[in-house]
Amino acid sequence: IPKIIGLTGGIGSGKTSVAKLLEEKGFPVYYSDDEAKNIVNKDLALKEKIIELLGKEAYVNGIYNRRYVAEKVFNNSELLEQLNHLIHPAVKIDFENWINSQNSEFVFKETALLFELKLNQQCYKSLLITADDNLRIKRTMDRDDKTYREVEAVMQKQMSEKDKCKLADYIIYNNSDLESLRVATEAFVEELK
Ligand code: ATP
Repeated sequence: IPKIIGLTGGIGSGKTSVAKLLEEKGFPVYYSDDEAKNIVNKDLALKEKIIELLGKEAYVNGIYNRRYVAEKVFNNSELLEQLNHLIHPAVKIDFENWINSQNSEFVFKETALLFELKLNQQCYKSLLITADDNLRIKRTMDRDDKTYREVEAVMQKQMSEKDKCKLADYIIYNNSDLESLRVATEAFVEELK
C-alpha cells in the first residue's frame, strides 16, 4: 500500500500548484476537494441526506447548488460540520477505491481541511503550503475575480497558518515566484526519498 502524504494549505496558498508539480514528477495525486464536488452529484444516498439537511434547494435539476449551500452554511458552523459529516465518509470510500489501484511508493491527498478534519491522522506525513496573507489574498483575487474582503472573509474562517504550521511535518513557504515554488517542491521530494 502506498504511503499517503496529506497535502494542504489555506485559500490561495498554492497547494494545487504544488500538486501539479508533484504529478509532473510522477506522483499520483488525489484531489479530495474536486472529488467531493463530483461525489455530491453522483452518490444518490448522499444526495438524499444533503437534501434532508439543507432542503431541496440544495439541488437544482439534480445538480448540486454550490452557491445556495455555501450561503446556507457560511455563518452556521454547526450546519457546516453536519454537512462535512455527510460528505467526508463518501469521499473516504472513494479515496480508498482510488488508492487500491495505485502502485507508487507515495501518493498525495490534496485537501484544504486536512487538519480541521483530522485527516492527517490517516496519513504517513503532512505537507503544508503556506504564504503570507496578503500574497494569498492577491493571488486568489487574481484567480477568482473576488474582492479583497471576500477572500479575507474565507481566510478568517480557516484554521490559522500558525496552528497549521505546528501540525505539519513538512512546510513549503510559497512567498516568491512559481520557479521558486518548483525548486522548493523538488527539494521536498528529495527529502521525502
Ligand atoms: P485554493 O484553496 O483557494 O483553491 P490553492 O492553495 O490550491 O488555493 P493555487 O490555486 O495553487 O492555490 O494558487 C492560487 C493562485 O496563485 C493560482 O492562480 C496560482 O497560479 C497562483 N500562484 C501560486 N503560487 C504562486 C507563486 N509562487 N507566484 C505566483 N502565482 C502563484
